[in-house]
Order: sequence, then C-alpha cells, then structure tokens
Amino acid sequence: MLKNIDILCQLQVLDKKIRIAEKEKERLPKEIEELEEKFNLEQESEKNIKQRLEQNLQQQKKLELNIAMNNQEINKYENQLLIVKTNKEYKALNSEITHQKEKNAEIEDQLIELLEAESNLEKEKNDILELLTKDNKILKKEKEKINIKIEVLTKEITQKEKGKIELSKKIPDILFRRYQRLIEHKDGKAIASIDNGICSGCHFRVRPQIIVEVAKSDSIITCENCSRILVSPKKTAKEN
Ligand SMILES: [Zn+2]
Repeated sequence: MLKNIDILCQLQVLDKKIRIAEKEKERLPKEIEELEEKFNLEQESEKNIKQRLEQNLQQQKKLELNIAMNNQEINKYENQLLIVKTNKEYKALNSEITHQKEKNAEIEDQLIELLEAESNLEKEKNDILELLTKDNKILKKEKEKINIKIEVLTKEITQKEKGKIELSKKIPDILFRRYQRLIEHKDGKAIASIDNGICSGCHFRVRPQIIVEVAKSDSIITCENCSRILVSPKKTAKEN
C-alpha cells in the first residue's frame, strides 16, 4: 500500500506535467501570430509597391501627354514658319520651336528616370510576390504542425487529469481537496521537500522537530510558513 504522502507526490508529478503542457498549449498559437504578423507586413509591402508602380505609370502617361502636346505646338509653329513674312517672325517662331524641343528633352529625361524606377519596382514586386508565396506555404504548414501539437497536448492533459482522478480515489477526499487548493494557490507546488533544513517551497528554515516528524511519520505535516505539505528529501528525489 502506498502511503498518502506518496500518492500526493505522484499527484504533484502529474500536475507539474499538466502545467508544462498547458503553458506550451498557450505559447504555441503565439508562434502562428508571429508568422502571421510577418506575412501581413509583407502583404503591406506588396500593396505599397503596387501603389508606387501605379503612380509611376500615371506620371509616365502624364509626361507622354505633355510631350504630345508640345509636339502639337511644334507642328503648329513649323506650319506657321511656311507662311511667315518677316525675318523677325521667323526668328521668333524658331526660338519657340527650340524652346518646346528643349522642354521635350527635359521631359524625356524624366521619363527615362521613371522607366528605371518602374523596372526596379517591378523587380521588387516580383521578389515580394515570391516571398509571399513562400511564406504562405510556411504559414499553412506551421499552422497544421502547431494544431497537431495542440491536439496532442490536449490529449495528454486529459489523460493526466484522468490519472489524477484515479490517484485521488486512493486518498481521503479531504486530503485531495487540500492538495488541490495548495496546487492552485501555491504556484503549482503543494508538496515541498526539506532541503538542508529549508522548505523548498518558501525557503524558510524548518524547525528540527518538524524535520524529524516528517522523516518518520506518514501523517501530513505542513510548513509553518507557507502551509505546503512537507516531505523528506528522499521523496522529492522520487518525485523528480
Ligand atoms: Zn514553506
């Protein structure tokens, strides 16, 4: 027959494992959140690149329109050249034509810059699309992996909870309820070993008389400071 205190130690082993599994279950979705955050940033970036591309193309159109308008002007002046009568008029028209041509040359320079920018943006767009495809796959895979892990942990927790119920039947109900209260309120540690005369739960010195009592008896003895159930070091070794 196992002593009550041994059952309590076994219960605490189960509770420790349950706590670890629960923490892991809580942490895992955060991994997904991080990946989703990264993916969302990449989507934002893609949107931004597309907007810049659109603006670039609009500017190109505008400049092309300006060139066309200037060319119309040039045409108009060139036609007028055919019918001018004075040298002065001729000169004035020629200077206007030169001016319009210079304007077009400037606009063409701007167009070349825009074309270069467009080509860079296209490259950026392709890169980010590639990244998005890749990360979308990773995200899907990781989600599946993590969901499976969570499922396994949930099963593990249920199984350990069942184990606890089975074990709890072997000790008086009142003792189990006391243990449960301690587990809930004492940071998952209801049973504390006495290590070198110190309670491992609260690190307070345990009176020598109590150390002796704990070592020899099966009765439940608690720490005078933290109320945890005390066990001799040998039992904790078993626990770990
Ligand atoms: Zn204590």
